[in-house]
Amino acid sequence: MALIVQKYGGTSVATPEKVIEAARQIRAAREDGHEVVVVVSAMGGATDELLRLASAVTAHPDARELDALLCTGEAASAGLLSLALNHQGVASQSFGGAEAGIRTDHRHGRATIVQVDPRRLREELGKGTVPVVAGFQGESVLTGARTTLGRGGSDTTGVALAAALGADHCEIVTDVAGVYTADPRTVVGARRHTALLYEEMAELAVSGAKVLASDSVDYARTHGVDLKVRSNHTAIGPETWVGDGRRAGGPAAGDAWTPAGQVSPIAGVAGRSGLVRCVLRRITSDHVLCLLRELVERETEVELRRYGNFGTEDAGDIALTLPEASVDEMRELLADADRGIRLDEAHWTSNLARLSVVGLGIGRRPYAPLRLLEALRAVGAARTDLHVTSNKLSVLTGRSDLAEATQIVHDTFVSEPALPRIHPAGPDHTGRTWSPTVEREHLDVAVPALAAAE
Ligand code: ADP
Ligand code: ASP
Ligand code: MG
Repeated sequence: MALIVQKYGGTSVATPEKVIEAARQIRAAREDGHEVVVVVSAMGGATDELLRLASAVTAHPDARELDALLCTGEAASAGLLSLALNHQGVASQSFGGAEAGIRTDHRHGRATIVQVDPRRLREELGKGTVPVVAGFQGESVLTGARTTLGRGGSDTTGVALAAALGADHCEIVTDVAGVYTADPRTVVGARRHTALLYEEMAELAVSGAKVLASDSVDYARTHGVDLKVRSNHTAIGPETWVGDGRRAGGPAAGDAWTPAGQVSPIAGVAGRSGLVRCVLRRITSDHVLCLLRELVERETEVELRRYGNFGTEDAGDIALTLPEASVDEMRELLADADRGIRLDEAHWTSNLARLSVVGLGIGRRPYAPLRLLEALRAVGAARTDLHVTSNKLSVLTGRSDLAEATQIVHDTFVSEPALPRIHPAGPDHTGRTWSPTVEREHLDVAVPALAAAE
C-alpha cells in the first residue's frame, strides 16, 4: 500500500462527467489499497473567466482581492469532486489551501510555498477519508491573507503535499499521456518520454512546456518527489516519470546526446510567445547595474539576453526580453531620466517568441547551434539572440514563425526511433522499473487522433 498524491488539472475536471471519471479513478486507487490525497485545479477555463470578470470591473485590481477571487475556482472544484466521491461511496472532505496547511510568502499572484503543515490531512487519512485539496493557493505567513501561486500552480501544491506527507510519488493527471518531446497538440511526430530527469524537465518547463509548472519541478527536485505524468483517460496507461533516475536504480540518462539521425536523447523543444525585446545602446556600466538592480527589486520578469561592451569606452549595449505584461513597468522605469537612460533611445521589438531545444550537454556540441540556425533559415524564420548554455539552446524568433520553426527544429533534433513505435495505449506502463537510457528509445509517437480525442 502506498500513499499517493493525485493532482487533477483543469481539463480533467472541466465537466461534471469528467469530475465523475476523476472520482472513479480515485476510488479505484483506494480499492487497490492505496491512501490517496487529491489536489484539484479550477474547472477548465474557470480561472480565465474569473480574471475576465475582474478586468470587467477594474483595470487595476487589488492584488489581495484578486487572489481572494481566484481561489474560489479551485475551492469550487474541490467541493464538487468531494461530492462526487461521497456519491460513489468514498468518504471524502474538501480543503482550502490554508486549511490543508499550505503557507506561502506574501507575494500575491506569484506566491512561493514556504512551509507545509500536513497534520490536518494526516488526521483525515487516519480516518480513511480522501482529502481533496484546492490547488494553486495558500495563506501568507506574514498577513494571513489568501495567496495564489501563479498560473499552473496546482502542480506545485501537489508536489509540496507529496513532499510534506512523504508520499511515494505525485501523480499529475492531465489531458495528454505524459511529457513529450514537444507539445503533442501542435507538433507532428512529438514522442512521449517514459522517463525524464528533473534537470531536463525543469528546462523544458521554464522554456514553455506547460504540462508541468516550472516551480513544481524545482520543488520536486529539491524535495526528491518522483512525478508521474499521465492522462486523465485512464489510470493504467502510458505515462512519464520525472525524477533523479534512481527510481529504477538505472543509470542517469541524458548525457548521451547524439546528433539527429540516431536515437536522440534530447529532452525536447519548447516555445514561449508574447515576448518583447528591448535594446538599449551605449549605456554606462553604472547605469546598467542600476537598471538591473531596479528590475530585481521590482521583481519584473525579464530575461537578460545580451550585454556587452565591444569598444574601449565604459558604455555597452544591453538586450532584454520581457513578457508583454511587463512592458508598461519597464517603460515607466526607463522614463525616469535620473536613471541616465533616455526612453527614446530604447529600441523595442514586439511579437517575438523564444524557441528552446533542451538536452543535457547539448550546449557542448558545436554542431547543435549550427543545426538550429540552419533549420530556422531553411524555413525563413526570424532568428536572433541565440543563447547557448550547457543544457539548452534558445533563440528569439517571430511570434508568427514559432509554429513552423518549432516543427522544423523538432524534426531536426528528434530523430526517428530505432525501435518500433509504441502506441500511447501500449504496454509500457504500470509498475515497471525504468532506466532512462534504455527507455529513451521507447518514445512513442503522438498520433493526431489522440490529440483530437482529448
Ligand atoms: P492541466 O489543466 O492538466 O494542468 P495544462 O494545460 O496546464 O493541463 O498542461 C497540459 C498541456 O501542456 C497539454 O494539453 C499540452 O498541449 C501542453 N504541452 C506543452 N508542451 C508539452 C510537452 N512537451 N509534453 C506534453 N504536453 C505539453
Ligand atoms: N487554475 C489555475 C490556472 O489556471 C491553476 C492551475 O490550473 O494549476 O492557472
Ligand atoms: Mg497545468
